Amino acid sequence: MKNDFSFCPNCGGKKIQNVNMRKWKCDDCGFTLYNNVAAAVGLVIESGEGKILLEKRAKEPRKGFLALPGGFVDPDESAEEACIRECREELGVEPLSLSYIAAFPNTYDYKDIQYKTCDIFFSATLPDGAKMRTQESEVLSLEECSVRNESELAELPLAFESARKTLSLWLKKKEWN
Ligand SMILES: [Zn+2]
Repeated sequence: MKNDFSFCPNCGGKKIQNVNMRKWKCDDCGFTLYNNVAAAVGLVIESGEGKILLEKRAKEPRKGFLALPGGFVDPDESAEEACIRECREELGVEPLSLSYIAAFPNTYDYKDIQYKTCDIFFSATLPDGAKMRTQESEVLSLEECSVRNESELAELPLAFESARKTLSLWLKKKEWN
């Protein structure tokens, strides 16, 4: 990952420096740019006994790996609104009964820039008999994966560690209930 610029986006000068992994400063004009942690959401949706819905990613990063439905939170949007919008976009249905599970940090490498995210996870259900229609640009296929214990979880080719941590916690919570 480069996470660097050749020219200042404000003055065009060459003295822009990477101060730390989320901050750049230009010595010529004083311009400062932040690449702060971005919020993202993920949904744990059960589809039958011990199974959850996972999307095979159609795009980089981690194309072909499995991810929970979800995505980046838009400006001026709540995490819950992002869940509803992303689920509608990716699966063609609106989720019901969102319930917070946990949040974990994640790293998202895209086109030579490394983005640090805070992924916020919710459990959700889908309306009875909902007809799902996946978004082709984002999802190669929708898979119902068995996640009944840690060893089944370990076998899954998940795109992101934040989802793995969440599903591990989700499994533990299910055992407690
Ligand atoms: Zn500058």
